[in-house]
Amino acid sequence: MGPFGHCAVGFAAKPAAPRVPLAILLVSTVALDILATAFGFAGIEGRGDAGFPWSHGLFMSVIWSVVAALVIARIYRNFRAGVVVGLLVFSHWLLDFVSHPIPFPSFSWSTWRWDYGHPLPSDLPLLFASSPKVGLGLYNHISAVEATVLELGMLILGAAVYARYALKQKRNREPHSV
Ligand SMILES: [Zn+2]
Repeated sequence: MGPFGHCAVGFAAKPAAPRVPLAILLVSTVALDILATAFGFAGIEGRGDAGFPWSHGLFMSVIWSVVAALVIARIYRNFRAGVVVGLLVFSHWLLDFVSHPIPFPSFSWSTWRWDYGHPLPSDLPLLFASSPKVGLGLYNHISAVEATVLELGMLILGAAVYARYALKQKRNREPHSV
């Protein structure tokens, strides 16, 4: 899934973690993609058809989620904040599991289409490089336009949850007139 769909979950999670800044919630939802970029540059993954086991493998995704949960729980001295951030990191894997593989390499900016005539093989490893790969492949079956509408819809819903919460907070902070 793209960043819009992932960030939607971060916005929606704000009421569950009031003490954690929104920016941290949003970054948590795309943490696995940030790792994938870093590991790609470092040459650790992303070469050949091994996929992205260190950032997007199910096993390592659970590890990264637990690490994020422990770090955040410690920083904010708040167990619940840690749990929410850990779940946000793992939400990335769940959404990617539904949407991957993404036929983005075949995407054309001029026609706004991708070539979903040739479904790609699943690309999310369960463990490491040689382990079975999974992915329900939603984006193999819908067009790039449909995927964009889906993600923007999710973003609007998530932002609406956040806006409602932020407004309520603001109202509570304002001095009550007598
Ligand atoms: Zn991803």
